[in-house]
Amino acid sequence: MKKGYGQCSVCKDRETLQHVEIAPATVIYVCSACIEKAQDNFIWICMTCGKSYVRPKKLVITRIKDLELKKAYMLCEDLLIIQGIDMCIACSPERILDYAEMHESVMEC
Ligand SMILES: [Zn+2]
Ligand SMILES: [Zn+2]
Repeated sequence: MKKGYGQCSVCKDRETLQHVEIAPATVIYVCSACIEKAQDNFIWICMTCGKSYVRPKKLVITRIKDLELKKAYMLCEDLLIIQGIDMCIACSPERILDYAEMHESVMEC
């Protein structure tokens, strides 16, 4: 557990006391504005470069072609999803990743 104030890892704009576990043993600060944003958006944070990705839940869900995965995401629609990913497009451009179509292991809720 972190203590005290830290910079929000999503907007990198505000100092906050709140933190969220985005992966086992990885805790980041997230301000209340970004927590609110997470109600309508999935938020992914790249653990390599720290870049954050905010995608509207509706858009992500409509774009998923895999039915099982779609179901998993729909179950998560009402939950706050702020997750860490190992690598993103920015730090690994040769791997075109579409987070909406990553493995089910991404979704654990
Ligand atoms: Zn924030
Ligand atoms: Zn990255």
